[in-house]
Amino acid sequence: MAKDLIASFGEMLIDFVPTVSGVSLAEAPGFIKAPGGAPANVAIAVARLGGRAAFVGKLGDDEFGRMLAGILRDNGVDDGGVLFDTGARTALAFVTLRADGEREFMFYRNPSADMLLTEAELNLDVIKSAAVFHYGSISLITDPCRSAHLKAMEVARQAGALLSYDPNLRLPLWPSPESAREQIMSIWDRADIIKVSDVELEFLTGLESVEDDVVLTLWRPEFKLLLVTLGEKGCKYYTKDFRGSLDGFAVNTVDTTGAGDAFVGAMLRKIVDDHTVLQEEEKLREVLRFANACGAITTTKKGAIPALPNEAEAVELLKRD
Ligand code: ADP
Repeated sequence: MAKDLIASFGEMLIDFVPTVSGVSLAEAPGFIKAPGGAPANVAIAVARLGGRAAFVGKLGDDEFGRMLAGILRDNGVDDGGVLFDTGARTALAFVTLRADGEREFMFYRNPSADMLLTEAELNLDVIKSAAVFHYGSISLITDPCRSAHLKAMEVARQAGALLSYDPNLRLPLWPSPESAREQIMSIWDRADIIKVSDVELEFLTGLESVEDDVVLTLWRPEFKLLLVTLGEKGCKYYTKDFRGSLDGFAVNTVDTTGAGDAFVGAMLRKIVDDHTVLQEEEKLREVLRFANACGAITTTKKGAIPALPNEAEAVELLKRD
């Protein structure tokens, strides 16, 4: 059987978003629950585009944990790597976009089930069968999950998987900005593919620029692909042999949650089918146009998972432009 599984490792949680927009968390009259967690979003993005995806992580053995596992299964994501913790709850995050444009977060992770995943609990069969192993940095914040993350990366690498890293910076979760930067960079050199947003680029380099000389400070000779996403402006790409940029798609943006996850899922979905994409610029540009389209579509609806496109929707937008 062809090795085409994309295994995504990390957190899956519930975002609580206010029923009305433009209020602070304290002012919100009520909240709606929305499944989230970047690695889980990526797995669902892949599956919605017809790819084979698995999620590896831990949920609470509670109503919310079981609900989230059900969402993975309903979306065609393999949940063989999902565990349930009987002692800790599924993580919750209350999130709002205030009228002044500031995002407010309040996390319930003291500790949450995802943080308690241990090395010994990892489903190594799922990890070994992956062609691509994808992860973020939230799972690096505390042990035992951090050790499980490092072990999973090592097992995936030994089994021949491509390693894909999207740090997904969530500063309030880290003890300090310095520790976030240090830990995010501690696994930097081990990836094949890395995607950062312009905001993360600025945080990691300390420089307020997306110019090539700044991006290239993050380049390593072992990398196959480094990507910088620029919101509605599209993305920039860097490989050993070529570099360039692609404009985004103009759409009616309602909520940008999950755009980066859709972008990553779409890109991995295509790379897993044809690894030569990483060596041939024309092919890579085609894949990244597709990823830009998937990111753009995800911004046209509220929430991440409900907004992730299928192949037909992406093709429709590609035809339009
Ligand atoms: P992240 O969600 O990780 O912060 P971005 O916001 O840069 O990442 O979005 C990822 C990709 O989604 C972008 O490269 C772009 O293709 C697409 N995208 C994001 N926001 C918009 C938007 N407002 N309009 C069109 N495309 C968008």
